[in-house]
Amino acid sequence: MYSAFLKVTDKCNVCGLDLSQEDAGDGAVPFIIIIAGTLGVGIGVWVMFTFNTGVWAPIAVAFPVVAAVVLFLLPKVKGLLIALQYLNKAGDTGGNTFDNDT
Ligand SMILES: [Zn+2]
Repeated sequence: MYSAFLKVTDKCNVCGLDLSQEDAGDGAVPFIIIIAGTLGVGIGVWVMFTFNTGVWAPIAVAFPVVAAVVLFLLPKVKGLLIALQYLNKAGDTGGNTFDNDT
């Protein structure tokens, strides 16, 4: 459903659903911030205390962990939000975003 990283195609290549009206936008980002931040900082702090390193260790560990989690999860969570938007017939104008008749 993506033509590039996070760039949603106009039409589903499986069922032909018109995706040009999808409006998930940046809705996935807050969830990813919470998940990636918790994992990255948590693992970083664990490394710092477990191996008794300086404060450089949590920083050095958190950045790649956060980057990996974001790159892995963001397309999936955005797709989930688009699916939820479709299933719940949600639209910011009060109508069904995916219904071309309204
Ligand atoms: Zn489809």
